[in-house]
Amino acid sequence: MPLEIVRNDITKMKVDAIVNAANSSLLGGGGVDGAIHRAAGDGLLAECRKLGGCKTGEAKITGAYRLSAKYVIHTVGPVYVDGRSNERELLESCYRNSLAMAKKKGCKTVAFPLISSGVYGYPKDQALKVAVDVIGDFLLGNEMTVYIVIFDKASFMIGEKLFSDIAQYIDDNYAEEHTDHCRERMRMNRAMPFASEALDSAPMPCQCPMPPEDELSAKLKRMDESFSQMLLRKIDEKGMTDAQCYKKANIDRKLFSKIRSDVNYKPSKPTAIAFAISLELSLTETEDMLKKAGFALSRSNKFDIIIEYFISRGIYDVFEINKALFAFDQSLLGA
Ligand code: ADP
Repeated sequence: MPLEIVRNDITKMKVDAIVNAANSSLLGGGGVDGAIHRAAGDGLLAECRKLGGCKTGEAKITGAYRLSAKYVIHTVGPVYVDGRSNERELLESCYRNSLAMAKKKGCKTVAFPLISSGVYGYPKDQALKVAVDVIGDFLLGNEMTVYIVIFDKASFMIGEKLFSDIAQYIDDNYAEEHTDHCRERMRMNRAMPFASEALDSAPMPCQCPMPPEDELSAKLKRMDESFSQMLLRKIDEKGMTDAQCYKKANIDRKLFSKIRSDVNYKPSKPTAIAFAISLELSLTETEDMLKKAGFALSRSNKFDIIIEYFISRGIYDVFEINKALFAFDQSLLGA
């Protein structure tokens, strides 16, 4: 998956380049900078001494010494003052310059910490948004896998309101799962003396509404369509290019090629959902697409309810959804 949000210690990441949230002296400090220098060993500091510091928003590169990466890219984030002091632009350029440096060195995998979100005070949710936006833009035109490494869960929060809305939605829908309307009606009828006689002699027909006829015949017509065929048809119907679709889904080009060339390809559930989100499918269409891959959205599964929450509100941003999934400890889309 091109962009992954993971919880880890960045010094443990097995990637081509680790990005360091350094200070302008490049001579080491606290936080993630200290952790990287400790793990890399003295050679890193010795090389940093030769670099003559680094300006805010810029990036410099060194070897990675005892780390399992090939390079450390040092970038200096802005100190957060009031949000109106050019902080966002500077933070964006940290990500852009680091990515350009990684590209120049031929890196295929890069791990970022949440730059400026520690002692430099950038609000974590906004720092994450900047990271996701800039990395997302970069990945539209470049093949690379980029990790945003979140150190501690407590530091990673989606907005409180969104969190409590989703929590409420999960609560409501878990409850609804246990209310089967047909059975409920039968139970109520049993409780009424006259209806119960009728129930004993003949089973009560279910009055659940049937799908309209045209919807049904369209469904029957498409019964034999595979996941891959439906995906390609939907891409055409939406007027998207293949690349727009898999990039928006946060899916790797190679995986997309596999799906495209194998008519019977069975994707994982998060992959299938990522495509449904990218195509901005309705809930019914999403269910259809999932069925082609042998899956369904269930009301007894938090992951599924969160997906339903976003689709039913017309929110089709994979990264926003992944942030919420992450906050609720669920696996991420496209991963
Ligand atoms: P800054 O000075 O740019 O704010 P900090 O190092 O203080 O840099 O913090 C940046 C982010 O890195 C914070 O969100 C912090 O929680 C995180 N962090 C600290 N140590 C690690 C680590 N070992 N791996 C990944 N992230 C880390």
